[in-house]
Amino acid sequence: SSPLFSAIEMAPRDPILGITEAFNADQSPAKVNLGVGVYYDDNGKVPLLECVKKAEAILIEKYAPRTYLPIEGLAAYDKAVQELVFGADSAVIKEKRAITAQAIGGTGALKLGADFLQRFAPDSEVWISDPSWENHRALFESAGFKVNTYPYYDATTRGVNFSGMFAALKAMPAGSIVLLHACCHNPTGADLTDDQWTKIINVVTERGLIPFLDMAYQGFGDGIEADGQVVRRFAEAGGALFVSNSFSKSFSLYGERVGALSIVASSADEAARIMSQLKRVIRTNYSNPPSHGGQVVATVLATPELRQLWEEELAGMRVRIREMRQAFVEKLKAKAPAHQFDFVMQQRGMFSYSGLTKEQVQQMRENNSIYAVDTGRICVAALNNKNIDQVIASIAKVL
Ligand code: PLP
Repeated sequence: SSPLFSAIEMAPRDPILGITEAFNADQSPAKVNLGVGVYYDDNGKVPLLECVKKAEAILIEKYAPRTYLPIEGLAAYDKAVQELVFGADSAVIKEKRAITAQAIGGTGALKLGADFLQRFAPDSEVWISDPSWENHRALFESAGFKVNTYPYYDATTRGVNFSGMFAALKAMPAGSIVLLHACCHNPTGADLTDDQWTKIINVVTERGLIPFLDMAYQGFGDGIEADGQVVRRFAEAGGALFVSNSFSKSFSLYGERVGALSIVASSADEAARIMSQLKRVIRTNYSNPPSHGGQVVATVLATPELRQLWEEELAGMRVRIREMRQAFVEKLKAKAPAHQFDFVMQQRGMFSYSGLTKEQVQQMRENNSIYAVDTGRICVAALNNKNIDQVIASIAKVL
């Protein structure tokens, strides 16, 4: 035996995967897992989108050789992603100030951005929302940064503590890296209003902060264009900008790992230098990205009929989630009229901070085999017409 291995301790379990393990072991036929982070359709299944099937049929027909992609990914993919994220008529694209590299999901995009920043802004600290997607902290810490939080969620209003957030940004030293959720905040579902974004963009610009927008749910809030507005507004503001985006949810391509990192610079020359350095980051991590998922997304985005189909299918997911929010609120109003859940309709994206306490979540699991995260986060996309009544009955019982 080696002392190298014998000294290694067991790492803490991932809290969300822990829920899934307990759920899988549960024998109840009526069990429901609201702890997940994926979109399920009304039959409780992860969908395979029609646009993806059609793009895959086109790709199969080609029987193309599996060569390496360029370090920064498939050119057609990078171009299509850039237009989706910044808008096809964006000045930063026309002026060649934006660079985009294919990445291994949204997580891979965040890690590339973090590693890049560690090379060129090693003394900066990172600020994430309180709370945030649970991997943000670990990811930036593992890239070598000190990670702090800025106030975000206000449990009393079930919305954003905007004054707290704004004051925190105002007090940050120049060069601080601020991670912002472009839309559909995970885990709370609480987003900023347009006016609040204006104030955030102004303070970021005035203080010389480095905004890093994470957009994992484009199209799940108010639509593809509407959800992309925040990115476009930051791009227009003219400072440095990092954007990670993911197609895991919007294309239901979780396991294919398709995402991208975009960086906006102030000139084409600067952008070219940035890209050359980003390629070094990629080269020393995994050399170049896998091709299948990127080919599928590029094919869909560049083929008008498939693009149209994708927009319809994505709208279908968005509308179904909204219907579930509505049903959740109305059914709870009927079953537990003393409690107010209207805020669930204001929330955006797949998740809701439901306000359920850890104890209530625990009771729902024991009483009815309904699983949620201890923070009270529920995945609205895991609700469907077959399970919602059970879920509502279980919540009404613990309130
Ligand atoms: N960022 C946020 C806010 C997320 O919620 C997620 C996934 O849940 C990701 C990034 C990671 O996306 P991907 O699965 O594409 O790596």
